[in-house]
Amino acid sequence: MTQTFHIVGAGLAGLSCAIRLAGEGRRVVLHEAARMAGGRCRSYYDSSLDLVIDNGNHLLLSGNRAARDYARRIGAADELVGPQDCVFDFLDTKSGERWRLRPNLSRLPWWIFAQDRRVPGTTARDYLGALGILRARGGATIAEAMECSGLLYERLWGPVLLSALNTDPREASAGLAAAVLRETLAAGGAACRPLVARRGLGSAFIEPALATLRAKGAELRYGARLRGIEFSDDRAERLNFGEETIDLGASDSLVLATPPWAAQELMPGLEAPDDFRGIVNAHFKIAPPTGQPLLLGMVGSLSEWLFAFDDRLSVTISGADRLMDEPRESLAARIWAEVAVATGLPAELPPWQIVKEKRATFAATPRQQARRPKAETRWRNLFLAGDWTATGLPATIEGAIRSGYEAARSAARGA
Ligand SMILES: Cc1cc2nc3c(=O)[nH]c(=O)nc-3n(C[C@H](O)[C@H](O)[C@H](O)COP(=O)(O)OP(=O)(O)OC[C@H]3O[C@@H](n4cnc5c(N)ncnc54)[C@H](O)[C@@H]3O)c2cc1C
Repeated sequence: MTQTFHIVGAGLAGLSCAIRLAGEGRRVVLHEAARMAGGRCRSYYDSSLDLVIDNGNHLLLSGNRAARDYARRIGAADELVGPQDCVFDFLDTKSGERWRLRPNLSRLPWWIFAQDRRVPGTTARDYLGALGILRARGGATIAEAMECSGLLYERLWGPVLLSALNTDPREASAGLAAAVLRETLAAGGAACRPLVARRGLGSAFIEPALATLRAKGAELRYGARLRGIEFSDDRAERLNFGEETIDLGASDSLVLATPPWAAQELMPGLEAPDDFRGIVNAHFKIAPPTGQPLLLGMVGSLSEWLFAFDDRLSVTISGADRLMDEPRESLAARIWAEVAVATGLPAELPPWQIVKEKRATFAATPRQQARRPKAETRWRNLFLAGDWTATGLPATIEGAIRSGYEAARSAARGA
């Protein structure tokens, strides 16, 4: 019998694990409960807009090395676009003030001394406050590590940390924030250039991965929800998909790349994150005005980040649990009112879609951070992957892909 690696869950963790294993010439079977791959990072045709849209806008930074490696492996590196320099446009929606944050490319952060590169109204000294995050003790929140108030917090650290962690920075883990900062801003502007999947998440992360897997002989099974695993003392022995069961051969391995709630149902005694935060995305079918930046940070408004695609404007709101029960019509109207002012477009509401992802990411708090398991389990042929495993990063594309790579390494080693 050919040794087989069964991977359950075709989100980015499962796909990246499959890409690594299939790339090494190993036999891979990928089982996905849904009718399509991508999980929380997907594109789909929206009939009310007659457009292909993403479930949510996703921002990467040039320092996301695993995500960029994955994009290269699947031949999609060109799908991620952004400015050549590290440039972030911002608008203070209350005062109308606009500015461009321009960290210099090298590691030495001289940009904080240049008035036209830093946040208006701040001094170089203000930026030293963030050092508290880098020096925080394990288990500390950001509020314990730095002052969470003042102009620089409102205009920079608050919005940036909220979007990176999808959790109110005051309650979020300083350790996770430090991990993000070390790999991006503290590594210099070269590691901090914004990257966006301009033609959508499907074209950048999913379809090329599926094509690569097919070309390498991997088997892709959709509508295949794993319902149970039979275990012996130290191994996973049988997979139960309802209509069908699959016996694992003596050398076969299983990688569970589902969200944590599904993994907890399948694996007895698994401790995993159990508190989540939502994200709201608003998509408007309207061409952006000339000169609209690819990404605009909006401060002091409900809208947080405005993405300009060729055929639509899309807004992301993180840590959005408070908005989950608000009617979609009211959200669309409130968000468009802000976007119209920010862009100078007419106030009349264009065709819109609101996507609410209730459990977009685990809450990046110290308590949840302590619940993240590593890839190996007490069963020697069972491994875990997912943005919620112990990657050291918050729930991001980068974390999901690193977890997939780690599970692939562990499974290949254990096999
Ligand atoms: C709206 C939104 C915006 C985001 N923005 C960003 C961003 O800007 N930048 C960034 O880096 N990250 C962002 N993220 C986070 C990023 O999308 C996730 O970290 C990443 O996609 C998680 O991938 P995953 O493979 O770990 O999990 P998932 O994508 O959840 O994949 C798990 C898969 O398992 C399948 N599954 C579940 N149960 C079973 C079962 N029993 N049997 C078989 N299959 C099963 C699911 O259908 C799913 O396809 C965002 C997320 C959301 C929701």
